[in-house]
Amino acid sequence: MNEKHYEVLVVGGGISGAALFFELAKYSDVNNICLLEKYEDLATLNSKGTSNSQTIHVGDIETNYTFDKAKITKRTAKMIEKFCLMYNLQDKIMFKHQKMALGVGEKEVEFITKRYEEFKEIFPYLELWDKETLREKEPLLVYADKERTKDRPEPIIAMGTDNEYTTVEYGEMTKELVKAAKEADPSKTTDVYFNTEVDEIEKIGDKFKVTTKNGTVYTADYVVVNAGAHSLYLAHKMGYGKHMGSLSMAGSFYITNDKYLNGKVYMVQNDKLPFAALHGDPDILCDGKTRFGPTALALLVLERYKGIFKSLGQCIKTMNIDGATFKIFWDLLKDSDIRNYVFKNFLFEIPGINKSLFVKDARKIVPSLSTADIEYAKGFGGVRPQVLDKKEQKLMLGEASINPGNGIIFNMTPSPGATSCLGNAERDIQVICNYLGKNFDHDQFLADFTDDK
Ligand SMILES: Cc1cc2nc3c(=O)[nH]c(=O)nc-3n(C[C@H](O)[C@H](O)[C@H](O)COP(=O)(O)OP(=O)(O)OC[C@H]3O[C@@H](n4cnc5c(N)ncnc54)[C@H](O)[C@@H]3O)c2cc1C
Repeated sequence: MNEKHYEVLVVGGGISGAALFFELAKYSDVNNICLLEKYEDLATLNSKGTSNSQTIHVGDIETNYTFDKAKITKRTAKMIEKFCLMYNLQDKIMFKHQKMALGVGEKEVEFITKRYEEFKEIFPYLELWDKETLREKEPLLVYADKERTKDRPEPIIAMGTDNEYTTVEYGEMTKELVKAAKEADPSKTTDVYFNTEVDEIEKIGDKFKVTTKNGTVYTADYVVVNAGAHSLYLAHKMGYGKHMGSLSMAGSFYITNDKYLNGKVYMVQNDKLPFAALHGDPDILCDGKTRFGPTALALLVLERYKGIFKSLGQCIKTMNIDGATFKIFWDLLKDSDIRNYVFKNFLFEIPGINKSLFVKDARKIVPSLSTADIEYAKGFGGVRPQVLDKKEQKLMLGEASINPGNGIIFNMTPSPGATSCLGNAERDIQVICNYLGKNFDHDQFLADFTDDK
């Protein structure tokens, strides 16, 4: 039997796994690390550039973030920017766009104005843009018709900025993180294995035995499972996280036939809805054409486009359905706003009627948008593994982590998981180094990646 031993073994070659791999290689004295990825390359699922909205979620224009959450995301978002600057990746995989949160109608105008006053404490660069400023910066938000003869009837206002890094090709960043890890210290072992699907993880004595589908066996002192939607599946297989279930929320996009927006336009969140409001973004992989979305559709798969059929069974197991699951769904669906939202998002996927329904929602951003202007973005989008907390009987909205304290961690990473990859790895590397009696050069990490004093 072929058996290789590592101090730390990371499962999953998306951006979360790559970020941890990088930090271990560059900022710790762990000498022997490996990354196992089940597909043929890095970042083929949610971290791929076409799967997500390519946004650095800082918290300044995301109206679904509270003041406290915005403070946290600001710190971790900065790490993305600092990594890209450190490796000279600006204007290659990281870009600046104008960005804003748009309020439409009296109530939202009031909301944005108040929010601006509150949030400029955290984000001093934010500006409040009235209709005339928006006419200059993002004209299609202002006009009701394509000929630009009349304005939309509702009042509008936005809080935004035009000199910040906003956009990253997270698939490329995943590859850059792994490259940087391999180059950080050539005396270290930093192995990456592709086409290596982890099937089983067992704790034997003080080590973990990791068996893969292709029959290879690895052992490790510490294991971190950063397998996206599959993390909870692997945790359940080991008997961990049984009080959690996973709800796969697929997100799709619609793309315009030309460049419609100059920058990112986010909308005001309806507090009752569990997923972020629709937004418009220039797609850096499609010549800046505007991508609207994402939608939110519950699907019985752990991944889209690739291992759909295999992941169907895994998804049903990972949902971990019981009375508590039904109670969570019932509590969500008894609210008519949520019910209508779920139904509408289902219809957004049905060919024939989807475009005309979706365009109605997207017109809140660009009032003159017509069905002829957009196409369903085939092959785009991914799956957000939202965690159901069955003890609390509620849907958890952010990321979740299971750490039983015995040398293994499982991370579930819905949005904004790409933005927080280096911050999540910073949290995990401290736990790993404490457990293994290794050192993490936290001071150097903080100096390189944060503005913390
Ligand atoms: C529609 C949508 C829009 C989003 N927009 C944004 C955004 O704008 N900004 C942002 O910050 N975040 C966004 N996100 C979230 C972000 O994409 C994810 O949080 C992030 O990509 C998660 O990275 P990951 O590495 O944890 O998971 P993934 O990218 O899913 O990677 C997991 C990896 O694990 C591998 N794997 C799975 N099982 C196994 C196994 N058994 N053995 C070995 N390998 C395995 C997979 O093949 C995969 O490569 C969005 C997500 C979606 C779906």
